Amino acid sequence: MEVLRDQVIAAAGGQKNIDGVGVGVPGLVRNGVVEEAPNLPQLKGARMAEMLQGSLRNEGITAPVTIINDADAFAAGIAATTGKLDAVVRVWTLGVGIGYGRYPATDGVWEGGHTVVTLDDKENYCGCGGRGHLEGIMGHRAMRLRFLDMEPEEVFETAKKGDVRCGDFKKLWHKALAAATASSIHLRGPGKFYLAGFNVRFVEMAMLNEYLHQMVKMSPLQSYSIEVINEAQETRVIGAAVSAHQTAAA
Ligand SMILES: [Zn+2]
Repeated sequence: MEVLRDQVIAAAGGQKNIDGVGVGVPGLVRNGVVEEAPNLPQLKGARMAEMLQGSLRNEGITAPVTIINDADAFAAGIAATTGKLDAVVRVWTLGVGIGYGRYPATDGVWEGGHTVVTLDDKENYCGCGGRGHLEGIMGHRAMRLRFLDMEPEEVFETAKKGDVRCGDFKKLWHKALAAATASSIHLRGPGKFYLAGFNVRFVEMAMLNEYLHQMVKMSPLQSYSIEVINEAQETRVIGAAVSAHQTAAA
């Protein structure tokens, strides 16, 4: 909290009279509280907005603090930096866990990384403990649990050399992302999806699109596209600021 406070003060650059402060954090965030954070459990239950607002007040900054999920901040940042503040933006972040961000912000819970993508009883590698989840297949942590004898990089390398076990997993990995994306399309409509995170290096776009094509068959829903976008922390920061601005203006 002290680090966050100091970062806000540095970003404000001596200004005390500011409209709002936006901070993106991992986890399930509602009303300024981190209700759950499977990959950062020490955050669970933290009343971050209240705490940060309090410590900023001591420094003379009385602006309201908006806490949003970091993937949502990323989506807002993409919308802002690509001039699409009037569009729907969805982003998957493929890292230790799987993040799902969407813009514009709406009420509700959007734990897209925990979308159920398989009914196989043995699929239980997700950080949250849930069965059949996207993150349990695609997450870096989950892949290491699944392949105790090799790193995720080696799994995808070995798949290229024709290894059946690794090849099957590579297909499953792409199918899982296609399935979660298809579910989002069936619930929210088509549009643009972005992919980011250090494991986008494993994505084969042709394979992903082929599976997605098999999963989305209704023609009004087929105007979707997927694009890899650079994982820039600045984009998340901009998105958090956009969210704080929109909250302050509301
Ligand atoms: Zn999960």
